[in-house]
Amino acid sequence: MDLNTEYDIAIVGGGPAGLSAAIYAARGGLKTVIFEKALIGGQIVVTADVENYPGFEENMSGFDIAEKMQKQAEKFNAEIKLEEVKAIGTEGLCKVVETSNGLYRVKSVILATGAHPRKLAVPGEEKFTGRGVSYCATCDGALYRNKIVAVVGGGDSAIEEAIFLTKFARKVYIIHRRSKLRAVKIVQERAFKNEKIEFILDSVVQAIEGGDFIEKLMLYNKKTEKISELPVHGLFIYVGIIPNSELLESRVEFDEQGFIETDNTMHTDIPGVYAAGDVTHKVLRQVVTASSDGATAAFSAEKWIEENKENFPKQA
Ligand code: NAP
Repeated sequence: MDLNTEYDIAIVGGGPAGLSAAIYAARGGLKTVIFEKALIGGQIVVTADVENYPGFEENMSGFDIAEKMQKQAEKFNAEIKLEEVKAIGTEGLCKVVETSNGLYRVKSVILATGAHPRKLAVPGEEKFTGRGVSYCATCDGALYRNKIVAVVGGGDSAIEEAIFLTKFARKVYIIHRRSKLRAVKIVQERAFKNEKIEFILDSVVQAIEGGDFIEKLMLYNKKTEKISELPVHGLFIYVGIIPNSELLESRVEFDEQGFIETDNTMHTDIPGVYAAGDVTHKVLRQVVTASSDGATAAFSAEKWIEENKENFPKQA
């Protein structure tokens, strides 16, 4: 395959971490490209309201935040290419990025590939996906006006999205496997006060059943050991996220869940390769921390390129 173009920095992933890295790298004068395989903005574009991103006391949608970040990155001449990265190799100190459109030689790579929703892995989940089972309340919530829906999970995503679903549905069950929620207190309290929400705790979904569309859930109560049926029109699954870290499989250090370990400069085990945002091991997954990671990774990559500038081949 022919080499397409050379860049100083290739950023893999166009969510908040990648866009923030692009703003910092391109503003720092580095020739910067973002590769994104699907949609600029990443997971945040399906978040209806972001109320904790500093500087915006009026809620902004995730989509609007991503659009503003993209414009800001492009203002500093970062290029955005809608190409899927298939592999990352090394060539001396350089990295060779293979995408769906060819090869690119770059000095440094920032992996900002994010994460994707974990599946529940129960019978019926696959069959009813798109027929009542969804992983995105923002995308599908409006289909359930005056209907009965359930949300599985006890984290921030599950509870926030359950509250969002009460705008449409007449009843929202939250099914959680323990008696305590994981979500932050302020969000929990909002859900407890919401009259449309009913909690089904200490319970797991054993199976999703129906005809052409979902009709009911089979629930197992871990305390009483009883099985019950719950009629629903829709089921929204929010049981955590899985890192999109397969590009560096077995070449860098991961935590036990597959999130990439970095040092505090966002450096991975490979010289000149950095990681930022949800794909990394971290305590807080937010737009603000992803953006912060991206900025740190770009700053560190710029420093690393400068320190090694004599060792890169001269560009044609
Ligand atoms: P999460 O925090 O990992 O929560 C996943 C939830 O699903 C937990 O309550 C977990 O139960 C439950 N769960 C996991 N596997 C399950 C299974 N097989 N069956 C039933 N339940 C299962 O994931 P998340 O809510 O998607 O959030 C991901 C990250 O994004 C978090 O760091 C979160 O704080 C962040 N986030 C932040 C915001 C915000 O600040 N506005 C919004 C959304 C997400 P246990 O509690 O028993 O483990």
